[in-house]
Amino acid sequence: MTETGKHKPERMCLSCGAVKDKSELIRIMRDENGYRFDLTMKSGGRGAYVCRNASCVDKLFRKKLLSKSFRKNLPEETYRKLREEFDHLYG
Ligand SMILES: [Zn+2]
Repeated sequence: MTETGKHKPERMCLSCGAVKDKSELIRIMRDENGYRFDLTMKSGGRGAYVCRNASCVDKLFRKKLLSKSFRKNLPEETYRKLREEFDHLYG
């Protein structure tokens, strides 16, 4: 099987706008239980992407950029929880 003509899945970082391969990004998703990091990178539902680096992640939380992707304002509490989870998983 060849990769010829196959489109590589690329996503855009919410913080810097760079388009990258999924492997270089972190995915945040929403499901019935709320917002969380999608470690499998392929769960269904709406997702948001951010670069796997501290400056983009910082900006995401500081400027509350997730509202752009999920088209609604997320409560302070949600950002706080995600931030904690991030430090846990990737810190
Ligand atoms: Zn970025």
